[in-house]
Amino acid sequence: MGIDRDTPRLYLKPGHERPVRRHHPWVFSGALGRLEGPVEDGGLVEIYTMAGEWLARGYLNRRSQILARLLTWDPEEGIDAAFWRRRLERAWEARRALRLEEQTTAYRLVFAESDGLPGLIVDRYNDFLILQSLTLGIERWKPTLVRLLEEFFGPRGIYERSDVDVREKEGLPPRCGVLAGEAPPDRVLILEHGHRFYVDLRRGHKTGFYLDQRENRRRAAAYLWGAEEVLNAFSYTGAFAVYALAAGARRVVNVDTSAEALALAAENIRLNGFGADRFENIEGDAFEVLRQLYAEGRRFDAVILDPPKFAYAQAHLQRAARGYKDINLQALRLVRPGGVLITFSCSGLVSPELFQKIVFAAAEDAGREVQILEKLSQAPDHPIRLTFPESEYLKGLIGRVW
Ligand code: SAH
Repeated sequence: MGIDRDTPRLYLKPGHERPVRRHHPWVFSGALGRLEGPVEDGGLVEIYTMAGEWLARGYLNRRSQILARLLTWDPEEGIDAAFWRRRLERAWEARRALRLEEQTTAYRLVFAESDGLPGLIVDRYNDFLILQSLTLGIERWKPTLVRLLEEFFGPRGIYERSDVDVREKEGLPPRCGVLAGEAPPDRVLILEHGHRFYVDLRRGHKTGFYLDQRENRRRAAAYLWGAEEVLNAFSYTGAFAVYALAAGARRVVNVDTSAEALALAAENIRLNGFGADRFENIEGDAFEVLRQLYAEGRRFDAVILDPPKFAYAQAHLQRAARGYKDINLQALRLVRPGGVLITFSCSGLVSPELFQKIVFAAAEDAGREVQILEKLSQAPDHPIRLTFPESEYLKGLIGRVW
């Protein structure tokens, strides 16, 4: 195709070319020198240096701090249906290579920027696909993408779960609904590492299940055999609880603020063949519940901490760090000597190094000694793109606590 002179042009302010040259997929509004041509939000844009050298091609939204998201650095690569087809094919090839079908019936097919498809998430749950469109640029191509996904996978249905706050920054309202085929039933039964889980695709968190924790649930299970009692804080629908019981833990205590999540956790535990004597559900704020459990003298062989994202912006990083430190401190006090702490942070702004420092500070305050046994990250169907460090968001530590 080559460079289309009719496409709007974004000239970068001098000194802002480097990230684009190095294939970082975002152009921030601060990098804007000048815009020329028939500019349209959600439409395509050519990125140039101020001196007029072409650098990349992407889509634009002036309402967002992320002014452009870049799709290609090849001047010959046009953005048309064939482009989206190639990118989806590549994402699918990368998942096929992981042989995920041997482990699970639910996984991430497309992880946005990491798969060269900025703003697009596609998760597969058996024969249903869940699509999340995070940007105006993707919104424009949604019909094309849905058609391609239907053609590739022949799903029973494609359902949209674009009910995420980040859309506001793009000037988009939340949206959920059927995009193709059938609506998913109230509950879909998935299989993960031999365990069965009911997932609510239409109302559950994210697209229904925390797929990014799949490998970590398996790793955690390796430390839970023989545990008398495991505390599963921020349990959601009990995924870690099922792995713990299947690994040989005697009993699990789930803590979550969501009554619906806990109800589904109870069902999932039963579904995997464990009776009511094998778990306890506590509905409440983990920050308070953990303190309460400590005051009651309860102690655990293992504590799992998988809190929601605490840090949404650099400005809140300090506060988030205090939150992580406090919850880890409360957890450490509950681990009996020789037990394990399995702790996570899904805040991209908290680096693995910072997270380790926070846990260190918590251990110091708790007066406990911790040996790190494993460092964890996100499952490989959520790849980290080297040129896009922001895609590394999930980190975890398994530590033995003395
Ligand atoms: N470990 C889970 C995912 C946890 S997601 C899994 O593998 O599936 C985080 C959970 O924390 C959500 O279910 C949310 O309802 C819950 N949550 C958020 N704030 C909380 C709080 N202050 N106390 C307890 N639970 C909380």
